[in-house]
Amino acid sequence: MNPLELRKQFPILDQQVNGHPLVYLDNAASSQKPRSVIDAIVRYYEHDNANVHRGVHTLASRATDAYEGARAKVAKFLNAASEREIVFTRGTTTALNIVARSWARAALREGDEIVLTPMEHHANLIPWQQAAKATGAVLRYIPMQPDGTIRLSDVEATLTDRTKIVSVTHVSNVLGVVNPVKEIAALAHKRGAVMVVDGAQSAPHMKVDVRDLDCDFYAFSGHKMCGPTGIGVLYGKRELLEQMEPVEYGGEMIEHVDYYDATWKEAPWRFEGGTPIIAGAVGLAAAIDFLTEIGMDNIDRHSEALARYAYDRLSEIEGVTLYGPREGRVCLVTFNLDDVHPHDVATVLDTEGVAIRAGHHCCQPLMRKLEVTATARASFYLYNTEEDVERLAAALIKAKEFFG
Ligand code: PLP
Repeated sequence: MNPLELRKQFPILDQQVNGHPLVYLDNAASSQKPRSVIDAIVRYYEHDNANVHRGVHTLASRATDAYEGARAKVAKFLNAASEREIVFTRGTTTALNIVARSWARAALREGDEIVLTPMEHHANLIPWQQAAKATGAVLRYIPMQPDGTIRLSDVEATLTDRTKIVSVTHVSNVLGVVNPVKEIAALAHKRGAVMVVDGAQSAPHMKVDVRDLDCDFYAFSGHKMCGPTGIGVLYGKRELLEQMEPVEYGGEMIEHVDYYDATWKEAPWRFEGGTPIIAGAVGLAAAIDFLTEIGMDNIDRHSEALARYAYDRLSEIEGVTLYGPREGRVCLVTFNLDDVHPHDVATVLDTEGVAIRAGHHCCQPLMRKLEVTATARASFYLYNTEEDVERLAAALIKAKEFFG
């Protein structure tokens, strides 16, 4: 795997920002798109565009094949047992909301427990808060070590016979830590609970095998893994999806309708009311082809090595505080520089052509636990190099001098 060669396939990266060659380190928020993905979307609109499922004409059948072909590709990418386990959604947020609104509200009773970690993104927190409010269930949190890791003994101690749902991020978008979701799923199942995995930050970086993890639901977003915005996936075990009520009603998702009632299609189509995100699915399929050709194991190794390199490089800079463990991290580093506000750090870095994110990263409760209001975050992908980390370090040293 050669990141510099790969970079040439990303037209957006070939530009100057504020007089410097762009170093894009905001990949955890959204990755850039290779030419093959952009071309696939253009080709779809230029040749095959039509609505799916309903038409008998040639373009409708091509669009349907493209859309359903993308579903099969996602199933293979995740090693799902069947494409019937793949629901197309708008992204991770929508996918997790479907589980929290449909499965959870039917399954939860007063006093039941939903177990989360303290590092969850708002997308894997607020839907559960709302489910708890609607059903009388309670939220419980697995304690987190000061370095941001989770111990299985703490998971075991948190779960009870009232635990119905355990929902955990696979990779933290703030700490970069990889959580032992396979082992947590086994503990959840021992208690008869359902395991939900937020895969927004893992699907882009590592080989995910949902059958090996034995999770019941897994959610991810296309735009963080070289695909377009507006498309994501909810994987769900078929027996669970088939029991679940739809959350959106309308065209496409019905089987039979009369003036007073209606019945639904089988899963996954019952969760895809209205015209689906066809071009998005086509783009996601192209992204999966792109990533698969590079090899997810290669991407994983690169991501881990670069995160470690960045962690060590930044820890050499006086005044930098890093969050999360050194070991067992992928794809990103989160930090603060002295008592400079991270927005100011990011602004100075932008003048050097280095794009990073600053803020609470949709993890406000975690920020409070870390005793900060915000942090800076540099996140990497397959086109980033050690050279990019050096540009980040040099820009940080400039920022340090600037703020004195
Ligand atoms: N979960 C995690 C860990 C994330 O990092 C993100 C996005 O940053 C999300 C969920 C939400 O993803 P999306 O905004 O694509 O729905």
